Amino acid sequence: MLLRLADLIERDAPRLGEIEVRDNGKLLAEMGMQTKYLAEWYRYYGGLADKVEGTVIPVDRPDMFCYSRYEPLGVIAMITPWNSPLLLLAWKLAPALAAGNTAVIKPSEFTSASTLEFMPLIEEAGFPKGVVNCITGNGKDAGAPLVAHPKTAMVAFTGSDTAGEQIYANAARKIAPVTLELGGKSPNIVFADADFEAAIMGTISGIFAASGQTCTAGSRLLVERPLHDRFVDRLVEVASQAKIGDPMAADTHVGPITTPPQFAKVLHYIETAQKEGATCVLGGNPYTGPGAKGNLFIEPTIFTGVTNQMTIAQEEVFGPVLAVIPFDSEEEAVQIANGTIFGLAAGVWTTDLARALRMTEKLKTGMVWVNTYRAVSYTTPFGGTKRSGLGRECGQQAIKEFMEVKTVWIAQKTATTNPFIMR
Ligand code: NAD
Repeated sequence: MLLRLADLIERDAPRLGEIEVRDNGKLLAEMGMQTKYLAEWYRYYGGLADKVEGTVIPVDRPDMFCYSRYEPLGVIAMITPWNSPLLLLAWKLAPALAAGNTAVIKPSEFTSASTLEFMPLIEEAGFPKGVVNCITGNGKDAGAPLVAHPKTAMVAFTGSDTAGEQIYANAARKIAPVTLELGGKSPNIVFADADFEAAIMGTISGIFAASGQTCTAGSRLLVERPLHDRFVDRLVEVASQAKIGDPMAADTHVGPITTPPQFAKVLHYIETAQKEGATCVLGGNPYTGPGAKGNLFIEPTIFTGVTNQMTIAQEEVFGPVLAVIPFDSEEEAVQIANGTIFGLAAGVWTTDLARALRMTEKLKTGMVWVNTYRAVSYTTPFGGTKRSGLGRECGQQAIKEFMEVKTVWIAQKTATTNPFIMR
């Protein structure tokens, strides 16, 4: 059924991609590719469904046979954010179903359309009624009661760290497991020996793709000081050429912000950065030029003169706003990079292999990209440390997040030992 679902997703990918764009305003160029690609998650976990094996465990009791088996948890609550609703759902639904669970999905109140349009495909693939369910509503009235429901066995959540904290606390009341994919303040770290143009393009894609509305946005740029001025000049040159406008148009680079509250939040962070003494070297304003239909556009914005203590370097903006921080040594780069409450991802740009390896060890993040940024696959674990979350989605081990292990002991002869002591 998962494999059939993958085929149906591929068939309907262009339509689902357009629905995503109308709901969240991200570029059709990205969402079209994304909806097609998400079929691979259903294929991968469909293939994995019959490959989860328990073990026969050798035990130090000659008269006992012992084995472990993996079992589904039950009803999984899946709560998704507005930035990539169907993709982030696939990361939960595909492994959870492959593990034998059922699901109740609650998409974001801002972007429910694509999930609702996806539901008939599940039925068409042959899943019995009731295996996958969808409820709509906001976090307080629909999400929180779903988490608290006595029959919810586990919560798989993607969203902000504040909502994640509430969900974790509510799930703890009944000792239910959670996976939490939360926010980030990810650093892109550029050393002076890096491939200059590749690092420029990686930095641009890290922060201005999807208008910065991705959890892995490379929102802090750490540049080795001798490179700083030249790097910033070139960044400004490239980012200022970005075409802002209709996300449906193939030649648009930067689309709108998804919701009015998020638009106001991004502008508030820009104002705060200015008040705290950062220098705005590009953008900093709502974009009102040609193609700005709907009034939710913000210019690609770059701040220099940022210190890691400033709000703009510490809090997740979730918009097209880059904070540039210079550094003088590898140790200082690590210290700045690790100096936030988050730990989702990091990018390292260097041609020195030994340094790249050292950095990948020292960075306290769930993911590190070397000489690339924002690469994601169904085969590779995705998730963060610290306030960026708990557990990992994608890859082989993710199926085990949705299962628990049961140990079975079988006595091969009837016990005649003292019943009042442990066997
Ligand atoms: P959000 O936390 O406001 O909402 C996410 C979802 O949680 C929505 O469906 C919402 O209705 C629900 N919700 C909110 N409060 C709840 C509660 N108390 N109980 C149950 N459900 C609740 O996030 P958002 O604004 O929709 O999305 C942006 C955030 O998501 C950013 O912080 C971003 O970094 C994060 N994100 C993380 C990842 C990742 O994989 N790490 C991916 C994408 C987005």
